[in-house]
Amino acid sequence: MLSFLLGQPNHSLHSCLLGEKLRCYKRYLINFNFDTLALVIFCWLSQKVSYLCIRRDIYFLEVRTSPNIHINNRGLMKEQNTDKASILIIYTGGTIGMMENPSTGCLRPLDFTYLEDELPELKKLDCQVRVKQLDQPIDSSSISPKEWKALGTMIEKEYDAYDGFVILHGTDTMSYTASALSFMFRHLAKPIILTGSQLPVGRLRTDGKENLITAIEIASEKKEDGSPRVQEVCVFFNNYLMRGNRTCKVSSERFKAFKSYNYPELAYVGIDIRYNDSFIRSQKSKKDLIVYKEMNSNVVVLKIFPGMTPDVIKAVLSIEGLRGVVLETFGSGNAPMSEWFIQTLKEAINKGVLIINVTQCDSGRVDMKRYETGELLADIGVICGYDITTEAALTKMMILFGQEDLDLDEISFLLANPLRGEFCIDRDNHELSCWTMIQGR
Ligand code: ASP
Repeated sequence: MLSFLLGQPNHSLHSCLLGEKLRCYKRYLINFNFDTLALVIFCWLSQKVSYLCIRRDIYFLEVRTSPNIHINNRGLMKEQNTDKASILIIYTGGTIGMMENPSTGCLRPLDFTYLEDELPELKKLDCQVRVKQLDQPIDSSSISPKEWKALGTMIEKEYDAYDGFVILHGTDTMSYTASALSFMFRHLAKPIILTGSQLPVGRLRTDGKENLITAIEIASEKKEDGSPRVQEVCVFFNNYLMRGNRTCKVSSERFKAFKSYNYPELAYVGIDIRYNDSFIRSQKSKKDLIVYKEMNSNVVVLKIFPGMTPDVIKAVLSIEGLRGVVLETFGSGNAPMSEWFIQTLKEAINKGVLIINVTQCDSGRVDMKRYETGELLADIGVICGYDITTEAALTKMMILFGQEDLDLDEISFLLANPLRGEFCIDRDNHELSCWTMIQGR
């Protein structure tokens, strides 16, 4: 049997012949016999081995391979994708890169160069990191489809050049941006991880360093076949990796600021990162990336409340050019049964406004067959949102209405069906295990 010793690159030996390249080559000393010699010569001829010599002094074969060739302990050579991952960080602003204005004490976003100074750890990462930023870093409460389009354009342009993307973003609207990007990218086969922090990186107790460094690590993670382990838009925050379009911001002060109520976390970070692989989306076949950057903002979120007057709902539904309404209803999708309420919704639907029913509850789902109030809404053509979040429903509508080649029936159909895992239609079917997990938590 063949045994081997793994050595470190030897810079002095024959360095004049191999030059600087030697530094990134792996050096193996393999027990010399005719079998191993034949194997190594074969690999040499097929250009997997760059240097070969018989070390007569110690009777070993000295072999050098490029870093992506590994000789295992059975003496077999295997090509591995050990290239360092390359990650693009896109900085949009948010608390993570903010500093107090000395005169007012208010936090305001700064350039990434400030962040870089506070994060010497970035240089120690075992991957190649490059940084880009929006023209003007912003507080995420000012985010709009204009910035989403800019992010989509940037990622589309750099898609082939990087293994993954990390977006630094304010927490206030992170779930909206994550949802919008999830619908924007079709056939996404690389990770886009959004993260940020509750305390600026300049503060001693900041959560920003931890969040950013782990997000980069997750974005660099590969499967055995070399493809990215995560192939969807996610939010990473306070040790949890979550599907982006399932998240919502739940706290303005706790480090645990996000939650995915209706879908299990995709990974948990402790002393190591535990992936929940069966819940992570991955592309079954390699298809070209399609980016839907156009959006239409003629949509509204209408949260019903006891005592709502007809004037309120009429005013909202008569907005000029309105295309879609995210109707936040009670419990499992219930709304008042009053004649005026149902009639007003019906008139809007008949005029071509699409209305999707989303629950006001944090967790659970809309089931319009459960109570007769819900059934009334289904009868007039309100679309069931199942367990979708308001953030996902709203941004999905914006993107679908932005596609001018889609007619109303097609948009209605696409709204009623999950496109990027944003809701589960049937909790008793393929998502049963997911539902059971959530219930059991
Ligand atoms: N207002 C900030 C923002 O969303 C809050 C944060 O980043 O945590 O930009």
